[in-house]
Amino acid sequence: MPYDDNNVFAKILRGEIASERVYEDGDMIVIADIAPVAPHHLLVLPKEAIGSLADAGERHALLLGKMLLRVAELARELGVDKKGYRVVINTHDEGGQTVSHLHIHLLAGRMMGWPPG
Ligand code: 5GP
Repeated sequence: MPYDDNNVFAKILRGEIASERVYEDGDMIVIADIAPVAPHHLLVLPKEAIGSLADAGERHALLLGKMLLRVAELARELGVDKKGYRVVINTHDEGGQTVSHLHIHLLAGRMMGWPPG
């Protein structure tokens, strides 16, 4: 699927839309979700224009590993690493993806249910 430059996370990455940035390095930014569904709800966005997990390839292996390790570090910083947390990558329509730029949700601070809706 071709990457759509006008998606909201592309605009956030370009600084065209404000966001609460809690972390940034050369590979990614981490922002607070605008409509949190848990007491802690962060989004990890790669700076590279990748539409979804389905568009990632072997060349993204290191980036994806760094993003997951960043999630684990954020969970430690939030103090939820012992209690637990949930990591979600919604992918395409049936996966519930609404913004077409790859992102990892970190959800924490309440009991999570299973199966997800
Ligand atoms: P998805 O449904 O694609 O997995 O997740 C998209 C997430 O982006 C949703 O949780 C939604 O609340 C969040 N979101 C949508 N627009 C904005 C925005 O303008 N700023 C921020 N910080 N989050 C947004």
